[in-house]
Amino acid sequence: MHYKPIDSTVVPRFAEVKTFMRLPNLKTTEGIDYAVIGIPFDTGTSYRSGARFGPSAIREISSLIKPYNMPQRANVAELLSGVDYGDVPVIPGYIEETYDKIEETLLPLMQKGITPVCMGGDHSVTLGELRAAAKVHGPVALVHFDSHFDTIDAYFGKKYNHGTVFRRAQEENLVDTSHSIQIGMRGTFYSEEDRLGSEKLGFEVITGFEMLDIGINETIKRIAKRTGAKKAFCSFDIDFVDPAFAPGTGTIEAGGLSSAEALRIVRSLTGTDFVGFDLVEVLPAYDPSQITSFLAANIMFEFISLLAVKARASK
Ligand code: MN
Ligand code: MN
Repeated sequence: MHYKPIDSTVVPRFAEVKTFMRLPNLKTTEGIDYAVIGIPFDTGTSYRSGARFGPSAIREISSLIKPYNMPQRANVAELLSGVDYGDVPVIPGYIEETYDKIEETLLPLMQKGITPVCMGGDHSVTLGELRAAAKVHGPVALVHFDSHFDTIDAYFGKKYNHGTVFRRAQEENLVDTSHSIQIGMRGTFYSEEDRLGSEKLGFEVITGFEMLDIGINETIKRIAKRTGAKKAFCSFDIDFVDPAFAPGTGTIEAGGLSSAEALRIVRSLTGTDFVGFDLVEVLPAYDPSQITSFLAANIMFEFISLLAVKARASK
């Protein structure tokens, strides 16, 4: 089988039940290259909650996504077979049990070489995804876009939430920090330790301030150099983008890139061997015009396009 989106030149984009990019809603591991999976969990948030409604909002607006990526000269629907796998059966309020559910959902897919393209949920969910990825591939190279490091040791004295996820990932040996990079950190911080903490764990860091100095092309080069040929995982916190372009998120920070610049960076990551992706922290209650969820859908489309470019190169 080749599973692809409904043809919007035949059935209008406002019609039919909403799935991501109008893909068939199927829990199958047969005949697919990628699976879009929602993780509607927001127990890990430290400020505004409500990212549990992110997957639903992204699906709703994603019917506008068309299958051809012009800069990549790639038709995603033709090059790849994919499904909307539905949501992880999360347990609201129970983060460690939910991590097990995320891992259990992703593992059979990743074991078959199917790439999960996940949508959060708050950023805590990435730990469950990385546990599945590391079981199959060993420690992966992490490419992390965010205005926050998410590597503090504990929030409110607790180990598991959206501000600690990449420290836990390093402690559990899920990421190879010598090939990992964090990009875009900006705003205000608790202390210099926020950055030093990440660097002590082994991550390369390009802060949002540095990115403005070195420019997008140099940023792209440094990401490719850092990941090299390692199996990699891309985690994109929507608050990487300036709140003018992505207001619908839980912990906004001023002074980020535009949506065009963010899309360009993701689109450029064709040299990295990604085995998983996520897009997290979309909070629809603060996104009345749907611009944040639409940008999220477009970033996910760029993730899938990277897989399409890789599939085409190996044909
Ligand atoms: Mn984050
Ligand atoms: Mn963030």
